[in-house]
Amino acid sequence: TPWFGLFGSKSGFDSLKECFGEQLDKIHAIESGMSADPSMLWRFEEVANGKVRVVSFSDAHSFWPWRIGREATIFDIEELSYDNIIKAIRTGQGLKGTIETPPEYGRYHWDGHRNCNFSCGPEETKKLNRICPKCGGKLIIGVEYRVEELAKKNKGFTPKNSVQFRKLLPLHELLVLHTGSGIASKGNWEMYNSLIEKFGNEFNILLRVNKEDLISKEVKLKLIDLIIRNREGKIKIKPGYDGEYGVAMLEEQKKLF
Ligand SMILES: [Zn+2]
Repeated sequence: TPWFGLFGSKSGFDSLKECFGEQLDKIHAIESGMSADPSMLWRFEEVANGKVRVVSFSDAHSFWPWRIGREATIFDIEELSYDNIIKAIRTGQGLKGTIETPPEYGRYHWDGHRNCNFSCGPEETKKLNRICPKCGGKLIIGVEYRVEELAKKNKGFTPKNSVQFRKLLPLHELLVLHTGSGIASKGNWEMYNSLIEKFGNEFNILLRVNKEDLISKEVKLKLIDLIIRNREGKIKIKPGYDGEYGVAMLEEQKKLF
């Protein structure tokens, strides 16, 4: 997280070396957190030079399906065993990639004040001297700001040994966009369960099933469009801040923000 996580602004550390000292050689990977994706971490010294890899896990907080497995690490190993997993994390052999939620979806991507209903990106925060224009208090600083503060490489830098990652919103978030009703509504649950029955599991639906198969199993065209747009990273998200999740929105809603 932006506060007390390893690279958080209140952690007291600005690098892995500062944090772990001479134990640094025992650090093989870091977890990206929801409000950051690997491309943001690639800009940090120890990740940029390839010594430390990036992994991702769901950080579920609760048991809801849209929280569990929302981020994941993809292994390409012969047998799913502890030894093979730890070897992949330590050496990179068999560490194929990660699945991420879009970092804007995380609860601390941007800066702001939840109670003041105010949020902004790092540029604006600098102009405001980190002061909330509504209440005059100090803004809660998000991950994007912190990355800019710590990054040793420019935006877009890709380390040699980096692995691919996919950004995906959970299926339930697509259903919310599709139906307009609350995430845990009965209608959304029915649709979710029917999709899982037809296609086996959520990642299969989000990543693999092609358009024709979705059509032939009577998935609504608007939902198919959302599934495809999610794969292509074309769903806009109002960035999360001060503990508020980011909100997925359709293009036509963009002008509201
Ligand atoms: Zn405020």
